[in-house]
Parts: sequence; structure tokens; C-alpha cells
Amino acid sequence: MRTTGNMRRRCLAGAAWLFCLLAGVALAATPPSSDPSELLAHADAIKTVDNVAFAKLLEQLDKSSAHFSQAQKWDLRYLEAWQVAYSGDVTKARPLLETIIKQTPDAAIRMHATAALINILGFGHHYEEAFSRLDQALDDLPRITDKNARFHLMGEAAQLLIDAGQYDLATNYADQIIADYPSGRNGCIGMYMKIHANFLSGRMRPLDPLRLRALHACADAGENLMADAIRRDMANFAIQQDKTSEAINLLEGSYVNVVSYRYLELTSEYDALLAQAYWKANDALRAEKFALDTVDIASKSDFTQPLSTAYELLYQIDREKGDLRDALDYHEKYMAADKGHLDDLREKALAYQLAKQQVDAKKVQVDELNKQNQILQLQQALDHKAVVTSRLYISLLLLTLASIGFLLYRLKRSQLRFMRLARRDGLTGIFNRQHFVDEAEQALRYAAKSMRSCCLILIDMDHFKLVNDTHGHIVGDHVLKRAVTVCQHHLRSCDVFGRLGGEEFGILLPECTISHAVDRAEQIRSAINATPGDGSRDITISASFGIASTDHHGYDLRQLLIAADDALYRAKRDGRNRVVVSEADFDPASASPSRSHQAAANDVAKHDEPCADTAD
Ligand code: GH3
Ligand code: MG
Ligand code: MG
Repeated sequence: MRTTGNMRRRCLAGAAWLFCLLAGVALAATPPSSDPSELLAHADAIKTVDNVAFAKLLEQLDKSSAHFSQAQKWDLRYLEAWQVAYSGDVTKARPLLETIIKQTPDAAIRMHATAALINILGFGHHYEEAFSRLDQALDDLPRITDKNARFHLMGEAAQLLIDAGQYDLATNYADQIIADYPSGRNGCIGMYMKIHANFLSGRMRPLDPLRLRALHACADAGENLMADAIRRDMANFAIQQDKTSEAINLLEGSYVNVVSYRYLELTSEYDALLAQAYWKANDALRAEKFALDTVDIASKSDFTQPLSTAYELLYQIDREKGDLRDALDYHEKYMAADKGHLDDLREKALAYQLAKQQVDAKKVQVDELNKQNQILQLQQALDHKAVVTSRLYISLLLLTLASIGFLLYRLKRSQLRFMRLARRDGLTGIFNRQHFVDEAEQALRYAAKSMRSCCLILIDMDHFKLVNDTHGHIVGDHVLKRAVTVCQHHLRSCDVFGRLGGEEFGILLPECTISHAVDRAEQIRSAINATPGDGSRDITISASFGIASTDHHGYDLRQLLIAADDALYRAKRDGRNRVVVSEADFDPASASPSRSHQAAANDVAKHDEPCADTAD
């Protein structure tokens, strides 16, 4: 595809990357005649490739549009609205596209306009409306024969569903695109989406032949940026598999190209991955350089995911160096970026579920109306019949009402289930990180009012990678669940317990002094150590614990997390399988915080202070 440098930059400058990709088609080789249909087709073909010529052609077409057929007029209106969206004037583009969707009799134009509208709604964070538009358009999709319009909508659908974490659905649309276009530019985009969904859902497999096919399709179509986005996912996967040199080769091999696209989000993702890979390869110097490069780009444009990765690494790097002041500073930034990233993901996932619930609710209402209608008709027919038949009518009515009630009940139940899922960790069923933070902050606010002590315990499983490497991930998952059960056995009803990520857990203990917290942590530590990790095998597991108290760190959860994490780090450094309290909480006069395992084991179950009423 021939691309002027300027246009490519404009396409990539903002969030419009996918918009440009999905909207563009291969450049028409033949020069246009004066036939309006051919001119319109040519305009469509050059709109991203040579947008200046496109704008001029639009003006020319607009002047002669009086002689156009109705279909040609709608085509022109769509291209004009597209140009407004492309120029970044989303507020003006929206009503133009909405009018086209409402009024055009041409189904393909309606689909293009809907796809463009969904795209700008997504960029504007109007996710709920984007999903409900998508839902309606997908209902119409089977009736659309225009291949290009189908591709445009399915591309938007796959992208939006990936954003909302609906990877199975996204893969369905990517598969349909690949079936329609087994190679070429559109095929490259379809395959990229499938690979991306696979990676994000944890279903990427080493040596998947689709990767090579996709890289070939993208290279043949000149879509180098797409190919490098695929390499980003491949490198990320390699890092997860601890194949760091493979990741570094992939990333360094395309790095110069990636920078040349000036598509800053991809550059910052490459930087963050290189930082991670070098850190894993024990090259702290390069890791720090790439992490700082990530921050430089990502903080200006608010790319929260690479930013959170980079800040977490910089925190670890400075902590290793013993540069605690800077480490704490980076930790705060990491928490903020991580929260921003999680909020964004949650917003999209919730919007999807809300839109879906509304569609379901509408379907139930329509069913209800239909049934009421049937009953009325039945009633008329039965009016002249005797009492016996009216009994039948009454029981039918009751049955119908019961079935509608049941449907509404199921809808409510699925809403509740979704709310629960949004708060729970999928593997262990305990609070996920975001919900743990929400609940712990609430408990801390409550405790701050009465100035009662609370303690935070952070737990990280020891040498967990080894468990996975030796026994496999499935056994690893099982071990995690058993460790959670052991912890739950020692918790009170008011304790807040959550999975903070990987094999890391947090427990906030309201109404608890530091010495009681140490005792409780010791109980859990020795119980985990005494429980075989997996029922059928004899796997000994252990965990390290870091504790911080509000007495010395205040009621701000972030400060408590930093202090407890520092204590946890020292527990790891000092040999693992131990409980360490934060330096500020450590009281050399009292033996309690640094007690030996044996001393603490003797205390097991001595302290079980009741929970105060922590209701709102
Ligand atoms: P350390 O004692 O220093 O903590 O060593 P470690 O091996 O536990 O190191 P680290 O905490 O960095 O590694 C965590 C490992 O936990 C990496 C990852 O493979 C594994 N892990 C994270 N989440 C899961 C999960 O959900 N299931 C399984 N099976 N493993 C996980
Ligand atoms: Mg660990
Ligand atoms: Mg860990």
C-alpha cells in the first residue's frame, strides 16, 4: 500500500490507529473516470492513503451531487461524515453518522456508518452506547452481503469485545474475517485480532502456526505495523514463559521500525517489554533505561498499562539498589497507574455487561407483550364458552405469568452473578485486587474514626515458579487454592482477604495490634508449611509474610502496602518462610515481632479477638 509519510503520521497520532486500518482499502490502481460511482469508489479507496486528495475529491463530488442518484448521494454523505470523524471533530461527526444510520435505505452504507460511529464512541469512552449499537448492528450482519461493510463491522466488533475482555466472542468475529479474507491486508488484521485475543485470554500456545501465517500476510500487504504488534504479543508471551532472550531478540529486531511509525502506544509497549525482559535477564542497567523511556512516552499520553509495568520495575530496581526514597516514590506512581489501568478495564467490562443486560431485559419485555397479546386473543375466543374453559384460561394465565416471573428472576440472578464475578478472583474465589483495595480502604476509614489499630499482612508464596516448573501449572493452581483455604481457616469475619496478583495475597486485620498480627501471621505461616500443597502429592510449600500497622504508617492503604511490601522483601531476602514486620513497627524491646517460629507456634490460637461492628 502506498502511504505518504504525513498521512501515516496523522493516522497514528491519536487513538485513531484502528479506525484508519479498518477504514482503508487497497489503493485503486486505475485512474477514475468521470462516472460518479467510480469517483466515489476511488474516493473511498484513497481516504486514508492520500487524505488531501480525498478531501479535494469530496469537494468536487459535492458540487456535482445534484445529478447523483439517491444511492450515490448517501455514499457521498457517508464519506463526508467519515472525513469529519477522521479530522478529529467527533462531536460534529456523531450526529452526521446517526442521521445516515437512521435514514439511509442502503444496508451497506448503514453498516459502514454504524461501524464508524461505534469506533468514535469507543474512543470517547462511551462504551455502553458503543456496545448497544454493536448489538443492534450484529443482528443485521447476516443480511449484509457487501464484504467490505461486513469486514468493517466485524473488525470493530472484535476490537471492542477484546477491550471488554470478551475474548471468545472477539475470536468468533476474527475467525469470520479470516474466513472471508484468508490472506492480504484484511486477513492480516483478522489474524492479528485472533492472536491478540488468544494472548490476552492466556490461550496463546508456543509455535502456533497462525503466527507465521499472520506475519506473512501482514508483510505481503505491507502492514509492517500490524506485524510488529503481533511480535509484541509474541515477545510478551515469551517473557511469561521465561524465554527472555527470545523476547529480547524479537523486540530488538523490530525496535527501529516500531520507533519509525511514531505510533507512541506501540513504542511504549515495546519499551516496557524490553525493560521487563532485561530485568529478568539480570541486566538492571538496560532494564532501567527502557523503563525510563516508557515513562517518558506513556506518562504524556496516559498509556496506563506500560506505565504501570515501568513504574513497578523502577520500584524494584531502586529497592534492589537500596535507594528507598525513590523506590517509595515509584511505588506510589505504580499504584496510581495500576489503578488507572484496572479502572479502565473494569469500565469497559461493566459497560459490556450493562448493555447486554439491557438487551436481555428488552427481549423479556417483548416476550411479555407477545404473551399478553396471545392471552387477550384467547380470552376473546373463550368468552362465549362455559366456566370449564375459563378455568383453563386462568391456569394458562397463571402459567404465563409464572414463566415471565421466572425469566425476570433469572435476569436478576445473572446481574447479581456478574456483580459477584467483577469482585472475585476467578481461581480462588476470594476478593480480587480491586475489590480488596475498595474493602480495605473502607475498613481503614472506619478504623481511623475511632483511632483503632489495624494491620496489613502481605503474603507471597516461596519459590512458586519451582512448583510450576516441577509439577505443572494445574498443580500450581491447586496449591494456590489450598493455601487460600488454609488462610481462610484463620480469618475472622471482619478480616479483608484478597488475591493481589499471581501468588500474592493481602489480609487487612481491623482491630488488631502488631503483636496479635504477628501471631496470626505465624499461625497461617506454620499451617501453610504443615499442609501438603497438593492432596495426592507430597509437595511442601511455604510463604513469606510482611506486616505493617496503622500505628506507625497511618490509615492510608498505599502507605501500608509500601511498608508491608518492604517487610515482605526482607522476609524473602532473609531466607523465606518467615514473618517480618516493617522497620517502623519493629520493637526491639519486645520479643514479639521478631519471635522465632517455635515461640510463635507455641502461641497458636491464643489470640482471636472478636470483630467490632464495622457496618457502614
Ligand atoms: P519467591 O520466593 O522469590 O517469591 O520466588 P517465586 O518463584 O515465587 O517468584 P515470583 O513471586 O516472582 O514468581 C511468581 C510465580 O508464580 C510466577 C508465575 O509462574 C507463578 N504464578 C503466578 N500466578 C499463577 C497462577 O495463577 N497459577 C500458577 N500455577 N502459577 C502462577
Ligand atoms: Mg513468590
Ligand atoms: Mg510473587
